[in-house]
Amino acid sequence: MLDRKLPAFLEAVACDRLFVVCDEVVSELHTSLVTRLREALGSHTFLTLPATESEKTTNRLAELWSWLADEGATRHSVLILIGGGALLDLGGFAAATYMRGIRTVNVPTTLLAMVDASVGGKTGIDYHGIKNLVGAFHAPLEVFVDTSFLSTLPIEELLSGYGEVIKHATLMGKEAWQEILRIGDPAGLMDDEWEALIAKSVAYKSSIVEADPTERGLRRILNVGHTVGHALEAYSHTNTFRRALPHGEAVVFGLLIESYITSLIKGTDRTYIRQLMHLARELYAPFFYTCKDYPELLRLMRHDKKNTSGKIVLMGILEPGKVEAIELEGEEKIKEGLDFLRETF
Ligand code: NAD
Ligand code: ZN
Repeated sequence: MLDRKLPAFLEAVACDRLFVVCDEVVSELHTSLVTRLREALGSHTFLTLPATESEKTTNRLAELWSWLADEGATRHSVLILIGGGALLDLGGFAAATYMRGIRTVNVPTTLLAMVDASVGGKTGIDYHGIKNLVGAFHAPLEVFVDTSFLSTLPIEELLSGYGEVIKHATLMGKEAWQEILRIGDPAGLMDDEWEALIAKSVAYKSSIVEADPTERGLRRILNVGHTVGHALEAYSHTNTFRRALPHGEAVVFGLLIESYITSLIKGTDRTYIRQLMHLARELYAPFFYTCKDYPELLRLMRHDKKNTSGKIVLMGILEPGKVEAIELEGEEKIKEGLDFLRETF
């Protein structure tokens, strides 16, 4: 499919040369698909790169700029990016900055990249020890999802991406949320079921991003679960004796804690929290932290980009489909939320 659809799309795009950058793990695991695709693309220049979070660096960025320059890429060239979120972020930023911007086409190969990183035009690298510190908005011309890539994805990566599917369904409303509850564990989904589920998730994120491309207002609702989720994720990576939380999994724990805090403040019904807790227990291994870690978790939350005037702000879920920004007075409610997860999960 991909080896027919992508070349057909490119035929209608005016460009002088094609450049392809592929995650080296994907190139090894999906040799026959990548080879078929390369044959179908005809003349192009190809590069494989290691692509994980630790590769979103200025060195790798410079390597891509040099490669494009040495191989003669012009402003009329198109860069095709095949890989997970790390490769799309890095390659997208190289394209955004090379000659003030060349066009890209995304081929996401992880679930997280399919439903999240490839949609919305955010690109960037990590710098100065801070994730995504330097970047640009640079939307791809098109995104091609091929669910056959998912067959080689480690289950932990699949379930991490599923955290963002859960987040989107929560924001979409009752019907989408009920579908997530019906699915339960997604590991056994067939290709066509994945396609339908991913298409809905992507359509939802696209609709929000189109309404607010540079995150001035509406797009902030996509940050549900992320105020607390990011803190848990960062914390789990610096405390190496504990389990490192994949991003999407941290977002699910963030959704649980933030929804609980919202229910404390707004007095909302807890049905969604009970249902999500049940699902999280089925999908994710326990993650523990102890009371003495709260100052560090709160410090990490205070660094969140949404915060205003030193107060922690979270996007509170009142129920599936209903979200409201909540500025927190003090830290007590957050501590209660953290207690809730520690004692209940
Ligand atoms: P990733 O890109 O780091 O990939 C994880 C691992 O899976 C890597 O080792 C990769 O080589 C491998 N891999 C990729 N495809 C595979 C496949 N089909 N089978 C087996 N292995 C495969 O992880 P990710 O979760 O896709 O992306 C995380 C990154 O995405 C982070 O850097 C995050 O900041 C970024 N992100 C960006 C946005 C955005 O809007 N730009 C949104 C969410 C996340
Ligand atoms: Zn996220």
